[in-house]
Amino acid sequence: MKLGIIGYGGMGAWHHDNIKEKIKSIEVVAVSDIRLELEEKAKENGVKFYKTSAELWNDKDIDIVTIATPNDFHKELAINCLRNGKHVVCEKPVTMNSRELEDVIAVAKEENKLFSVHQNRRWDKDYLIVKEILKNKEIGEPYYIESRVQGSRRAMHGWRGYKVNGGGMVYDWGVHLFDQILNLTESPLVSIHGHLFSIFSEEVDDNFKALLRFENGLSVLVEVATNCFINQPRWHICCKEGTFTVEDWDCNGKIVKLKENSEMKWDNDIVYTSAGPTRTMAPRPDYTTIIEDLPELESDWSDYYKNILESIKDRGKLIVKPEECLRVMKAIDTIFLSWEKGTAIKCYI
Ligand code: NAD
Repeated sequence: MKLGIIGYGGMGAWHHDNIKEKIKSIEVVAVSDIRLELEEKAKENGVKFYKTSAELWNDKDIDIVTIATPNDFHKELAINCLRNGKHVVCEKPVTMNSRELEDVIAVAKEENKLFSVHQNRRWDKDYLIVKEILKNKEIGEPYYIESRVQGSRRAMHGWRGYKVNGGGMVYDWGVHLFDQILNLTESPLVSIHGHLFSIFSEEVDDNFKALLRFENGLSVLVEVATNCFINQPRWHICCKEGTFTVEDWDCNGKIVKLKENSEMKWDNDIVYTSAGPTRTMAPRPDYTTIIEDLPELESDWSDYYKNILESIKDRGKLIVKPEECLRVMKAIDTIFLSWEKGTAIKCYI
């Protein structure tokens, strides 16, 4: 299959390099960008350069278009590509809100073309480890999850600092983290309370926290920070029979689970800790718990595009489904509404 890329900046070039290296059944044949100086780079990389995106979607040789422009252009570009007979892979956040995405999904259905979103962080190893532990139910059902990405570079890079372009961390990292969480449970999302901070950016959120509640009783804290100098674990997950952490993207971490039939005996006397007397918060005796390593897993991002190829033949196989991305965009709409109203918002997503 032949693929064209609209937007040949950081991520557009990343798609090109990685497809070339890892997916032999896709040939990147053309790119387009409003920065005409990128023609040189395209030539060096052996692909055609179109000065306008219309020339690219009118190229009859191209089967699939990947859209990697700033977020505010995604909807219009996706619709034009679909209308001109292309299958479309769109970068995240797929659109600026859920209404825009509904329009795109309707066009994809009318044109009978594949439409998917590059939610590549479903292939992150840390996330796959979390999924695996929860699927095995080794430490019971989760009732509280913390999912965090924390950095300290503060400033939003380029267009990410502007509201009109869909800048800010809710759209940027929030979309990934919401997509991961919404694909961990089938339970509907019933409330969202968002706290957005604009510490360094005039227009957009540069740090945020959101507390999500699901119908099955699960609560989730999602946090993205750009002004954090002491990081917390990437994942901290509380289940009924144990707790586990994935500390970082290198997937250090551990599972602490209760031993079977190891009842804890309470002392009659109060326990003295360095912070004074307490029974409830005194350390648990070691004989009641067991510490395990996180499972070792392999993950290959290129499965994303391999699945796109399979799904062009058989739509039933699509992994990142537009309807799932619609749930994510509805969650994003609700977090902005929550912050505007200054309260948690009930929802059913
Ligand atoms: P970037 O600024 O590096 O590149 C964007 C490119 O699009 C620029 O070259 C710009 O000139 C071009 N452009 C702007 N408007 C255009 C238009 N109307 N038509 C054609 N080209 C246009 O930005 P980026 O970091 O590559 O981000 C691009 C997209 O990729 C965004 O949606 C972003 O959220 C997404 N992204 C995804 C991931 C991921 O992990 N999935 C990572 C980074 C960025």
